[in-house]
Amino acid sequence: MTKETKYQSKQEKTSSKSFSIFSIFRIIIIIGLLIYLGMVYWLPKKPKMENNLMIATNGTCMGTTWNVSICESSFQDEAKLFEIVQTVLDNVDATMSTYKSDSEVSRFNRSLSTDWFPVSPLLFEVVQKSLEISQKTNGAFDITVGPLVNLWKFGPDKTQISQLPTEEEIESTRKFVGYRNLQTDSTTSAIKKTIPELYIDLSAIAKGYAVDLVARELEKNNINNYLVEVGGETRCNGEKMLKIESNETEKNQTTDDSIEKRPWVLGIEKPYIKKDFDETPIFLYRKVIMKDGLSLATSGDYRNYRLVDSTRFSHLIDPRTGKPTIMINENANVPMKRLGSVSVILPNCLEADAYATAFFVLGENEGIELANRLYIPVLFIIRNEQTDPPQFEEVASDSFLNKIESTKF
Ligand code: FAD
Repeated sequence: MTKETKYQSKQEKTSSKSFSIFSIFRIIIIIGLLIYLGMVYWLPKKPKMENNLMIATNGTCMGTTWNVSICESSFQDEAKLFEIVQTVLDNVDATMSTYKSDSEVSRFNRSLSTDWFPVSPLLFEVVQKSLEISQKTNGAFDITVGPLVNLWKFGPDKTQISQLPTEEEIESTRKFVGYRNLQTDSTTSAIKKTIPELYIDLSAIAKGYAVDLVARELEKNNINNYLVEVGGETRCNGEKMLKIESNETEKNQTTDDSIEKRPWVLGIEKPYIKKDFDETPIFLYRKVIMKDGLSLATSGDYRNYRLVDSTRFSHLIDPRTGKPTIMINENANVPMKRLGSVSVILPNCLEADAYATAFFVLGENEGIELANRLYIPVLFIIRNEQTDPPQFEEVASDSFLNKIESTKF
C-alpha cells in the first residue's frame, strides 16, 4: 500500500469514522425528536387549571369589610353582584347601627318610652332571635349589654379610655342591662323596654344576620354556589368551580367535562395577640371544609382590645359581672393558658355569630358543657402563654368532632 494510499485510507478512515459519529449523532437527534413529539401529542397532558368561573367583589360596611365570591356560569355580572350585596348591607346598617344616630335601633335606644315600639321585620327578627339565644346561654349573650360596651369604650364613642371604670360606675351601669327588660310582640312586630334607659347593641349578631340576608338574596337571583364574608363571619354554599382548560377543549368553549368542582375551604387563625386590628400575616390553626351551606363565625380577644396602664381587656363583656371577660395585667407577667378564640359552625350565620360571643363569655369549661348539650359544633382555641411564642391547644365539642371535616395545620 503506497504512502498516499495509506494516507488516503487514513483520511478515509478518519472521515468515515467522523461520518459514522455524525450519522450516530443524527440518529440520536431524530429519535430524541420523535420521543419529544410523542410526549407532546400522545402522552396525557396535564390540564391547565383556570379559575375563570368565579367572580368576586368586595366593599365596606358596618365599620368593616365584606367579600363575596360566586361560581355561577349563568351570572357573570360583577357590577350587578356588587350592587345586590351592598344594597342588602346598607339596609342592615341603616336598621341596626348604633354608629348611626338616625338608624332604627338608635331611635329605639334614644326613646325613653316603655310603650310598644313598632319596628321593621328585619329588626324584629334579630331582636327575637337574640332573646332566644340569651335564654339558651343564660344571659352570656345579651344585646342589652350596650351601656357596658359603651362604658368600656368599645361602642360608637371612640374616645380613648384613660382609666378603668370604677366598681361604682360598673354597678350603676349594670342596672340598665338584662335581656329580660326587653320584650317582643310578634302580632304587631313591636318591641318594648321595661326600663327607659335600656340600650341595645347588635354588634355580636347583626353581621352574621347580614351574611344570611345576602345569601338569601343571592339564591333569589339563582346563585347557589357562593362564599359570603362580612367582618370575618362567613357562609358558604354549593361549590367552587374551576374550569379545566386542556388542549382538546377549544379555548373559549366550556364543556361539562372541563369543569372541576371543589368544596369551599376556610381557615381558622391562631389567636396571636395582634398589635393592630388588621395585622398580617395570619397564621392558620385549622382548615374547615365548608359543605352543605355552613356558616363559620369566630369571636376572640386578640384583635379588638384596649390597653389602660398595663391592663389589657377585650371587647367581649360578661353581662353578669359588667366586665370584659379577658382583663390581663401585662406587668404581672404571669404566663397562663387563656382562651384566645371561639369558632362556631352552624347552618346559619346569625346563630354562629351570636353563639361565638356567648361561648367566649362562658369560657371553655362552662361553654363546652353547653355546646355539647345544645349539640353545637364549637372549637375553643386556648393560647398557652407559658411558652414563647405561645403554643395553642383546643377544646372541641362532640358535634365539631363528629360533624365537621377539618384538619389542623
Ligand atoms: P363579635 O365578637 O362578634 O361581638 C363583640 C361585640 O358585640 C362587641 O364589640 C360588643 O359591641 C358586643 N358585645 C360584647 N359583649 C357582648 C355580649 N356578652 N353579648 C352581646 N353582645 C356583646 N364599627 C365601627 O367602628 N364603625 C361603624 O360605623 C360601625 N358600624 C356598625 C354597624 C352595624 C350594623 C354593626 C352591627 C356594627 C357596626 N360596627 C361599627 C361595629 C363593628 O362592625 C363590629 O361589630 C365590632 O368591631 C365587633 O366585631 P366582632 O366581630 O369583633 O364582634
